[in-house]
Amino acid sequence: MYERILIPTDGSETAERAVDEALAVAERFDSEVHALYVVDTDAVDVSLGTEQVDRIHSGRFGEMDELEDRAKAATGYVVDRGRERGIAVEEQFRGGRPHKVIADFAEDHDVGLIVVGSHGRSGIRRMLLGSVTERVLRSTHRSVLVVDGREDE
Ligand code: ATP
Ligand code: MN
Repeated sequence: MYERILIPTDGSETAERAVDEALAVAERFDSEVHALYVVDTDAVDVSLGTEQVDRIHSGRFGEMDELEDRAKAATGYVVDRGRERGIAVEEQFRGGRPHKVIADFAEDHDVGLIVVGSHGRSGIRRMLLGSVTERVLRSTHRSVLVVDGREDE
């Protein structure tokens, strides 16, 4: 079970809270782990051409060094936590609509479990779930573990 686990992360603290649970499952099932950062083309301040989307996919961000820093900090966190447990983590970078990219990745790579945070960077706490997580749940038939990342209030 859970041969391959996908951990999508936007680098937020709430996403980071899901990482330990994801890695604990990975440890138990000896799963292959992928950490995925999506450069969100839905975000108002991001406009990417197909050439740039291709570069992101290959991990060569070129001029886009601000995006690169954000992306690699997000996946690097998962790599570091994985290393503490002796788990190798594959870093994945994509550009697009996050929920679509996450669902497509899960399908293309036969992911057995997707582990997401309940919220992310914008974290409007009165909503039970962030929109990316809600849309992932509506876009995939794969198993999804949603980790509630809200701090105690
Ligand atoms: P919203 O984006 O709807 O304003 P939010 O930022 O609080 O709300 P989401 O964006 O839904 O919440 O984030 C929930 C989870 O989805 C995150 O913890 C993370 O696991 C995943 N996620 C969100 N954005 C991305 C992204 N760009 N790349 C990879 N994973 C993401
Ligand atoms: Mn978000």
